[in-house]
Amino acid sequence: MTSLPKTFLNIPNNNIAIRLDRLSKTYKAHGQSNPKNALNNVNLEIPVGCIFGLLGPNGAGKSTLINILAGTVIKSSGGVTVWGEDLDKNPRQCRANIGIVPQELNIDVFLTPHESLEFTAGMYNIPHHERQTKEILEMVGLTEQSHAYARTLSGGMRRRMLVAKAMVHSPPILILDEPTAGVDVALRQKLWDSVRSLNDSGVTIVLTTHYLEEAEQLCNHVAILNKGEVMVSKTKADLLRSAGRKDLNVTIPENQRNQPLPNDIEVLNPIITSNGFTIRFNPERSSSGEILKKIGNAGIQIIDVSTYQPDLEDIFIDLTS
Ligand code: ADP
Ligand code: MG
Repeated sequence: MTSLPKTFLNIPNNNIAIRLDRLSKTYKAHGQSNPKNALNNVNLEIPVGCIFGLLGPNGAGKSTLINILAGTVIKSSGGVTVWGEDLDKNPRQCRANIGIVPQELNIDVFLTPHESLEFTAGMYNIPHHERQTKEILEMVGLTEQSHAYARTLSGGMRRRMLVAKAMVHSPPILILDEPTAGVDVALRQKLWDSVRSLNDSGVTIVLTTHYLEEAEQLCNHVAILNKGEVMVSKTKADLLRSAGRKDLNVTIPENQRNQPLPNDIEVLNPIITSNGFTIRFNPERSSSGEILKKIGNAGIQIIDVSTYQPDLEDIFIDLTS
């Protein structure tokens, strides 16, 4: 793996790559009486260097948020700061700090990846000696396909081609809107590898997704957007911890199943199951070991145990349903 030679100077003092301050967007549809509130006072801070997952069901406002950053949607109110630059005062510099990978696979099928990147570099007026066409193609795993016509590339390769194009002007931030939509499962992993490589070389990554698995595997910071509002924004580890519940499933012998549970376990909210019971507890206040000890002390024989901790999907459903 190569890293892009250009390092990102001028990291913002507060270490915040993107800051949204009460950002709102109302779409005023022509001929329609009720305008659509797509974003409602969104406050968000995206730290430098993270892989940030913006999650939310369809219609949550994810693309609206991305498109405001890309400059294709005009915000209604609120502030946006990108890499320390204010979007209202310095829109060009804001754009220069972002590479956007759109959801649609709009690539020129008559160009090879190499030609396409050179063409894009020309549009940015990047002098030949500063271009990093080879390095970028290597980063996204398209070295072998450098001179193959784009029409021969698979869906996953085309997506990585778009990542390459977004990186031509060496932005410190890369934004991907639903990067693996339409990319088959086997090729998703390759795309994630490219994203991780870019992040390792210092690029701050923001991606929207409604595949929770993607966020679970790739992101270290997650925000959940629902109906234009941020429900939560935390590191993934904090978010998983904050669910505040864990289930301990205990299998006990048949002849002990119908007797009442000891009182000190009753406190922990046990549910009787067909082969024993399930105890839901707060992992910050108790532990499986502690509970199993109480069960043992009460003379109940333990045949088998398993635990279940909520994953991102459970938390997502809790917050958006
Ligand atoms: P997401 O990307 O999370 O699916 P969007 O940002 O695309 O959500 O949409 C948020 C809401 O704004 C939806 O209710 C959608 O119908 C509405 N919306 C999006 N774009 C437009 C538009 N150009 N005109 C009117 N309403 C829009
Ligand atoms: Mg969208």
